[in-house]
Amino acid sequence: MRQFRHMAITLAGMVALGGAPALADSAMPEPVAKTAEGLIAAGLADETGLAFVEDLTTEIGARLAGSPDEARARDWAVEELQALGFDSVRVEDFTIPYWGRTHESARVVGANAQELVITALGGSQPTPEGGLEGDIVRFGSLADLMASAPGDVHGKIVFIDEKMYKTQDGSGYGLAVRKRGECAKAAAEKGALACLIRSVGTQPHRMPHTGGMLRTGALGDLPAAALSGPDADQLTRLLARGGARVALDIGVEYADAAPSGNVIAEIEGTDLKDEIVLIGCHLDSWDLGTGALDDGAGCGIVVGAAKLILDLPERPRRTIRVVLYGAEEVGLFGASAYARQHAADLDRHVLASESDFGAGRIWRFQTNFGDGALGYADAMKRMLAPLGVTPGDNSAGGGPDIGVLRRAGVPVVTPGQDGQDYFDYHHTPDDTFDKIDPGAFRQNVAVYAAFTYVAAETGWDFRKSAAADTGTE
Ligand code: ZN
Ligand code: ZN
Repeated sequence: MRQFRHMAITLAGMVALGGAPALADSAMPEPVAKTAEGLIAAGLADETGLAFVEDLTTEIGARLAGSPDEARARDWAVEELQALGFDSVRVEDFTIPYWGRTHESARVVGANAQELVITALGGSQPTPEGGLEGDIVRFGSLADLMASAPGDVHGKIVFIDEKMYKTQDGSGYGLAVRKRGECAKAAAEKGALACLIRSVGTQPHRMPHTGGMLRTGALGDLPAAALSGPDADQLTRLLARGGARVALDIGVEYADAAPSGNVIAEIEGTDLKDEIVLIGCHLDSWDLGTGALDDGAGCGIVVGAAKLILDLPERPRRTIRVVLYGAEEVGLFGASAYARQHAADLDRHVLASESDFGAGRIWRFQTNFGDGALGYADAMKRMLAPLGVTPGDNSAGGGPDIGVLRRAGVPVVTPGQDGQDYFDYHHTPDDTFDKIDPGAFRQNVAVYAAFTYVAAETGWDFRKSAAADTGTE
């Protein structure tokens, strides 16, 4: 703790000299630092969090938003969280448009007749009874489709053959996902019959990757599906040999309003119990795998971290709220419902963060604090450094479900996980429990337990502006 004390002395010295610092005094009280150190050690030996994701993915399996499986997962989570001893365990209900697949197949017809491995995108229209058939027109990117002449597309099946590349921070995903979201809309505007895309994802296996597409209500503009990477390559080779005609058969079920909900559990604070530190994940998953990395792991990480804090001899001052969001995958419905249902007290949310990027080791810690609170960010980063976490900048997004809180002015942190192999499994049948590395998972639990505890116990104001700090506001 020597360096923290040194910082405090330096800041005090600056104030004495009349040069008030722009940064908050970041000295972490020694008892807080000591307890955080203990939580880190306990996190690295976590059993609760890992058991939570193992049990969830084993006993429930896939948890498609709005489905009876997601409802079972909510009941299951309520029971688990109560059994773990959390306060105020409850479900906050809302409804969503529901979409589910009933069958899907694609096959090349004609001289080179053969099956193709596909999966429908969330929100795909059904094909007409018995399927549809069309010539394939291939584009290298969504932009190429958008720039094409309608006459080249009309009456055909569009195929966007755009690859996604691996990055540590997953930044390839945002780009790749645009074609998944917008292919059907862009193709429909030009009179296409259907849309096929090369799977978003980075693995070379015959594992197609599903995910949401733009839609109004439950359905998008066309039947739309993703080909596995090798099937996209196959189709491209067939096209080079003189064209390809594909028969597509997609069946779906949908409803305008299906039940979903956010599962909430708390550790009620003491003298600052009206102030909330929120850590979240999403409980729903796509239907192909068991939603282990996306996002059973995230739920295990935040539940495991919170349980360690719950088991401390004394409760922290602020309330810690664990939110297992519903219906994230199909359009962040749980996040919107939470912001709506808690609109009146968002200003009492002092910090928020979500784990939704698998179970890889955390390598960077980003914050999004007021500029007068950067000293607190530095204190957290120093605390996490022994876990191999490097200091990130102050432009954290907070996670998909947390974006709405960030935009409402809630300070957020993003513990950035190593996502090098995340998109090898994400949204595919291969997203299963065995893909979680227990060592990396436990490092996540340690990080979440430590910063959540510090945020709840110190009473630090992460919104603080530099002007407020110098007393000129
Ligand atoms: Zn997710
Ligand atoms: Zn997802």
